[in-house]
Parts: sequence; C-alpha cells; structure tokens
Amino acid sequence: MPLSEFTLIQRYFANQPQARADVALGIGDDCALLRVPASQVLAVTLDTLVAGVHFFTDTDPESLGHKALAVNLSDLAAMGAEPAWATLALTLPEADEAWLTAFCRSLFVLAERFGVELVGGDTTQGPLTITLQAHGFVPEGMALRRDGARPGDVICVTGTPGDAGLVLEATYGRAVIPAAHRAYLQARLERPTPRIRQGLELRGLANAAIDISDGLAQDLGHILERSGVGACLNVDRLPRSPALLAYGDQEMAIVVALAGGDDYELCFTVPPQNLDSVQKLAADWDCGCTAIGFIESQPGLRCQYENGSPYRLVKRGYEHFA
Ligand code: ADP
Ligand code: MG
Repeated sequence: MPLSEFTLIQRYFANQPQARADVALGIGDDCALLRVPASQVLAVTLDTLVAGVHFFTDTDPESLGHKALAVNLSDLAAMGAEPAWATLALTLPEADEAWLTAFCRSLFVLAERFGVELVGGDTTQGPLTITLQAHGFVPEGMALRRDGARPGDVICVTGTPGDAGLVLEATYGRAVIPAAHRAYLQARLERPTPRIRQGLELRGLANAAIDISDGLAQDLGHILERSGVGACLNVDRLPRSPALLAYGDQEMAIVVALAGGDDYELCFTVPPQNLDSVQKLAADWDCGCTAIGFIESQPGLRCQYENGSPYRLVKRGYEHFA
C-alpha cells in the first residue's frame, strides 16, 4: 500500500535526534512554536534545489539530504549566525521509502552536527524539488552583511574554491578530472561543509561576508555593489587544492577557482587592524584561510597576476535566466 502523507511525515520527519530547548512545539501541529533568545535577531534563509537544475536527477538521495541543509547553513555562516531550526518543503514524484530513508539519514546527521532541529514543513507530490529554510540567531548589530566592505580591507577566502566547479566542468565534458582526486572532488561538490565556525568567529572582526555559491568573482561582486566599493584580486594567490593543482591547465584552474559555482566557502573582508586576529583564529581552521586581494574605492573588480600584469576575467559565475 502506498504511504500516506501523514504516515510519511510521522515516519521520516517527526522522529529525529535533535530536540532543542527553544522549540516549544515542533512537527505535528499547524505551526511550530519557537523561542528567539532575547537581544538576538532571527536570521532566516531559504534555498530550493530543483531536479535537473541544481542537481542531476540520478543524484544519490544521501547527497541531496546533506546538500539541502548544507547550502542553507552556509548562508547562516555567511551572516555570522548560529544555526537553530529548519523547515522543509519536499515535493516528491512518489513516496519512495528507500529514497526517503537515505535522504533523511544524511539530513539528520548534518542537522545534529550543527544542533539544528527540523520544526516543520510541507510534503507534496510533483517533480522532485527540495526547499529548505534555515533559521539562526545573531546578536543585534553583529551580523556579517554584504554592505560593510571598506577601502583598504583585505579580501579573504576560506578553503579552496574551484573544486566543485571542476567537477561541473567535467560533467559537461569541458575538463578531465585527475583520477587520483576524483573522490575528493565529488565529495566537495556533493558534501560541502558549511563554514559555521568561521562565520561565528568572524563576528566583530570582518566588515563584510558572503558565501560562494555562484562563483567567487560573482559573489564578491555582490559585496562590492552593496558596499559601493571595488576590488583588486591577485589570481596567483587563489588557494587551489592539490586536486586543482594536479589539473593540467592552470589557466583553466584559475577560471574555475574564480567562477566555478557550488563551493560554499566564505569570502569576507577584514579591516587591516583585525587581520592579525583573523589570522590567529584561522590558524586553527581545518579549511584554512587565504588573503587574495584588497578592497579599493574605485568601483569594479580588477584581477591581476602576481607580477602585476592584468588578468582578463572571462567568466564570473553561474546565473539563472542568463
Ligand atoms: P497543514 O495541512 O496544517 O499545513 P501538514 O499536514 O502539511 O499540515 O503537516 C503536518 C505537520 O507536519 C506540520 O507540523 C508540518 O510542519 C509537518 N511537516 C509536513 N511535511 C514536513 C516535512 N517534509 N518536513 C518536516 N515537517 C513536515
Ligand atoms: Mg501543509
């Protein structure tokens, strides 16, 4: 007998490991009832993953469960927010129990790791679409916004952008992945690690931050526009993973590091007086942190090589409707 909507919700979503004290009422009623700590603001973000647009239809559900939550936690990280709750709107072509089991397994592993409780959602039938909303807290006035960058700030990035982009290029037949690095690269695309710790530690130190979902150049561009400033990037300083360095064509490696999407690293700007503090904190980050350029007052994004010769930006990143 096919699973009813209510049995499905009960079986897969109502029983979960995480139980937060600030959830007065979770899944099961018309609304969840939640307590926001005094003197903090609620940070709310939502991302939709559509089959055939954001992931290949045959993507393993275990990766999807992880990614649906990870991309939202990445937005909270970019805001300097501490994750708390999630809601999930799931549109499924059919109630496939093996699919749901695998999806929930990875979703709840990641949720537990970051102390997130799933407090509600909606379940409907239709083409596979996963919409997840994440909620977090940040003390009033402490959020890392896009509009705070100032001339003189150092531009930093966590991790090694471009890894996920290289896999995407390979999928479209435009690159060949070095065999020894295949598993690493695939994991970087399918299992991004939200930089929550980094976002929290950057509160009060970074002037602006964004997470890189559509490509470093494009996402940094959002900081520049919102802050009314420009930037100069040194493309030779872009941190490249051993996998990306093993890729034969380093000009292509620079293109994916600058414009490849789906990295979910943080790009942030630090005023010079805070750089020491950030570097001390970053020494303890397993993802690392690299200074790649400077904010300038002249609008626009300029890229150059280490020797000062200009680098022509051919692609900034991914855009829907482009
Ligand atoms: P309503 O019809 O009042 O919107 P639903 O029958 O859609 O309620 O949902 C019943 C309960 O199950 C609600 O608490 C809702 O938030 C929760 N829920 C439904 N689908 C999901 C889901 N995919 N993930 C988490 N909670 C869900
Ligand atoms: Mg409903």
